[in-house]
Amino acid sequence: MKTPVEEILYFGRRMTERWINNTAGGNISVRADDEMFISPRFADYQWGWQLEPEQIVSGPIEGDALLSHPAFSREGKAHLGIYHSFPEAQAIIHAHPHFIMPFCAADKPIESTIDATDMFGTIEQADYAIPNTQELADNIVAGLRGKNKLMAEYAAAILLPRHGIFVAGKDLYAVYDTLVKINMNAWCIIAQKMLD
Ligand SMILES: [Zn+2]
Repeated sequence: MKTPVEEILYFGRRMTERWINNTAGGNISVRADDEMFISPRFADYQWGWQLEPEQIVSGPIEGDALLSHPAFSREGKAHLGIYHSFPEAQAIIHAHPHFIMPFCAADKPIESTIDATDMFGTIEQADYAIPNTQELADNIVAGLRGKNKLMAEYAAAILLPRHGIFVAGKDLYAVYDTLVKINMNAWCIIAQKMLD
């Protein structure tokens, strides 16, 4: 059984191996009781996800203590918002996956086209907001509303126009698996255009 810190390091490396991010890096977090553990700012840009355990930022989910941490991730506010609003959420990944990004650029939902993604339904786009703002965090939470059951059982996702995706779920294994499956489904939608 990995600790929250070990899980974040492990899945950060796996995201890089799968080329599932750009150098903006995205971020990975885990809830442990009343605390959040989250990858640091510039996890990819500066560190290539080759992080040391002491670089993982942690602090209380309630209150503002984490917001003033110098290495607090730029979309950390959205992670806090999700943990605040959804007790079912135990882990979160924000990423800019290669095959999901065209749908974000076009502000289009991702419909399920393979068995592996049927359980998640259509992945919708949140309302647009500028990155690293409380408005974006609020829009992400709003976009996930009503998906509590899915989050408790496995994981739920929401797209961010022009930006990327947030996946929240019961643990990092389910969240990462969901991210990979949605990325594969997105590739299948794009690739089918070439089969015509
Ligand atoms: Zn981002």
